[in-house]
Amino acid sequence: MTPIHVTNATTTSEPVRPLKISKPGRAPVTHNACTVCLPLGVSLAFRGVENAVVILHGSQGCATYIRRYLISHFKEPVDIASSSFTEASAVFGGAQNLKTAIDNVRTGYQPAIIAIGSTCLADTIGEDVSMIVRQYLKEHEGETDLPLFVPLPMPNSRGTHIDGLHQACRAAVEYLSLGPEDEAQAPVESVHEELKAPVGIFPGLVSPADIRYLKELVRDCGLRPVVLPDLSETMEGGLWDRYEPIPKGGTTPTEFAALREALGTVEFSTTVRKDCSAAELLQDRLGTPLLRMPLPVGIAATDLFIGTLTAWSGTEIDHAHQRERDRLIDAYADGHKYLSGLRVAVFGEEDLVLGLSGFLKEVGMEVVIAGTGGRTSQLAAEMQRLYGAGPEILLEDTDFEALREVVAEAQPDMLIGNSKGYSLSRALSIPLVRVGFPIHDRFGAARVQVCGYRGTQMLFDRIVNTVIEERQAESIGYPYM
Ligand code: SF4
Repeated sequence: MTPIHVTNATTTSEPVRPLKISKPGRAPVTHNACTVCLPLGVSLAFRGVENAVVILHGSQGCATYIRRYLISHFKEPVDIASSSFTEASAVFGGAQNLKTAIDNVRTGYQPAIIAIGSTCLADTIGEDVSMIVRQYLKEHEGETDLPLFVPLPMPNSRGTHIDGLHQACRAAVEYLSLGPEDEAQAPVESVHEELKAPVGIFPGLVSPADIRYLKELVRDCGLRPVVLPDLSETMEGGLWDRYEPIPKGGTTPTEFAALREALGTVEFSTTVRKDCSAAELLQDRLGTPLLRMPLPVGIAATDLFIGTLTAWSGTEIDHAHQRERDRLIDAYADGHKYLSGLRVAVFGEEDLVLGLSGFLKEVGMEVVIAGTGGRTSQLAAEMQRLYGAGPEILLEDTDFEALREVVAEAQPDMLIGNSKGYSLSRALSIPLVRVGFPIHDRFGAARVQVCGYRGTQMLFDRIVNTVIEERQAESIGYPYM
């Protein structure tokens, strides 16, 4: 078996050249935002936790908007409860609404866990969801069927959907694995079901198909995967005979308990703030080793991921995955003539942009524009740290109007990002390869893979075929490859 040479994707041997960051003058309003709000990330994170229901404290429109957004991407029903503010609650506070919502959710869903996020309106009037939950627990003292509560007092104004997802995962680990230091709720009991040592994977926002692949990969490295959020079944299950209010799947109590004994954790984010990171929390409290890296797209990044797993487990890479790597290198050689030197604009969450940039550099394409609606202010620095050079133009906390201006000027050969780039692609006649979240205008978003050798292979094929399709449209027709 050919040993994998592990390259550290978090450093580069190339000389660092200064990154030119261009931030075109922003209008005082956002036009077609590149990001969604923080409660969406909270809702998605707890959709990946077994037997959990999310209540959004605020107006009903927020829950409806977020449900519509998620359903259109995943093509699965998504229930999100709301405390349904009225005009009176917006003025006098919505504590009673939230308590009624909790009662209704307990009756209607019988969940094991209720996560409570707040929306703009609740934040604006200063609602304290932790305090309301404490009141509720006091009022219901002695009841034996109380669910576990995870209050998420995160101001919506301070982040995007991906910040919400990271912070919700950290809160889930705090409440469901470790037990909060200042709360009375007991953490779940540890139950050993498998002999393999557990490893925590915090993938961020990736597709259910990518999560299934990551679990397979971790198992094949001789370890037991604990993925949070685990959307592999909850956001892409089978056909139901009857409606399931809470779909099967998600990270289980046993898995949360197993995180306490994890050999290590891998978090696919180098931009998440330390105090918002679930992996950092485990390291701080328990000393759990951690690897933080961008999304493992491409050979170097996947080598780093698998190399770390096999080092932790003391095994070698499984033969089937080694062969996937071999085939990917072969495909790189075959497809190089189509991609070499092509100029690309990439947009999406910071860690997706970082992961894609490493891969595109690996296959000889040039990222000329990188754009994100994210607000961590880490993208430029990470681009430089990881790859030694950034794009000509890098936009942070941006919107599609600003992106359109720079893309129109730079005229890249291709756009790679979510489906919100469609109007840009159509207006400027530049092909768009749909990756990330959301993909609202194509079928199969839940099965789009980019992670590991397998996902990279799929992405590489799509990019090459997009180039061929463009050339075919401009020429007289059918070419032999
Ligand atoms: S009002 Fe705020 S929380 Fe509600 S959907 Fe809009 S941005 Fe999200």
